[in-house]
Amino acid sequence: MTRPGKASRAAGARASAGIGSAGGSGKTGIEQGCVIASHGRHYLVAPTDGSVPIQCFPRGKRSEMAVGDQVTFERQSADQGVIVEILTRRNLLFRSDQFKSKLFAANLDQMVIMLATEPWFSEDLLGRSLVAAEASGIAPVIVLNKADLPDALAAARERLEPYAALGYPVIEVSVKTRPDEAIALIGEQLKERSSVLLGQSGMGKSTLVNLLVPGADVATREISAALNSGRHTTTFTRLYTLPDGGSLIDSPGFQEFGLHHLSEGMLERAFPEFRPRLADCKFYNCHHLHEPGCAILEAVDKGEIAASRHALYAQLVHESSQIVR
Ligand code: ZN
Repeated sequence: MTRPGKASRAAGARASAGIGSAGGSGKTGIEQGCVIASHGRHYLVAPTDGSVPIQCFPRGKRSEMAVGDQVTFERQSADQGVIVEILTRRNLLFRSDQFKSKLFAANLDQMVIMLATEPWFSEDLLGRSLVAAEASGIAPVIVLNKADLPDALAAARERLEPYAALGYPVIEVSVKTRPDEAIALIGEQLKERSSVLLGQSGMGKSTLVNLLVPGADVATREISAALNSGRHTTTFTRLYTLPDGGSLIDSPGFQEFGLHHLSEGMLERAFPEFRPRLADCKFYNCHHLHEPGCAILEAVDKGEIAASRHALYAQLVHESSQIVR
């Protein structure tokens, strides 16, 4: 509901507001804002001056925006505008299959991957999320929910141990039974950062959002109405401004995370355990799949690199070669 403009960007917005407006009303020229919700080709932009979010349409058919994008737009009426330009992105998180791609979010510092001790989380999705984050220069954080279930917690810790060993932070919480602790731990991690929240259904993602952002439910209904998205009330990506600073982009539950757009060179560097060994392969253009003298394969044989991680790498290299260009 509340959507204060980001103070740090206010000066830039003031500079660009009013371009082309002779009268200087501030409402007829080019304004700057942030995309805070998207549904299909419908976007909601929060003007940087803190005024009410406005529905905006992209000018060309090809320009697709992501939540978190900084844009300039031109008002057509009180509640509608047209995007003029997408400002340079720091990064862009998206998934892709053979034929198309789907944008998650832009301009991120951090990816929060929400897991739970139960139901069983997909390690494939976890691995892909981490690779996507590494490839985009976004810091991943794993949140393990439902840590109040002792037996399930022990099993989940065992599954996550290799990831913790790689240096990925794991925050254990129980959003339902220990909400205050969850707010403190996760709130501290999100403070002053731009984060995207990913999680399969059943992991407690929406409970967490409602905990971190008071009034998130009401805001979602209002945004849904503003987007004209009809009955699909919760199936859109949404940016929340956090009470203590920073923002959280909630992406609807995901079941797949294709990474066809990542080249082999990007993939090998997206595995932190591969990086220090890449220079040790016998062949300069080693694919780390079957080559003799491959330092990665040797590390897998010695148990220094998990076989499951190498299997994910091999699968992603295969997918990358399938892309229709
Ligand atoms: Zn190799």
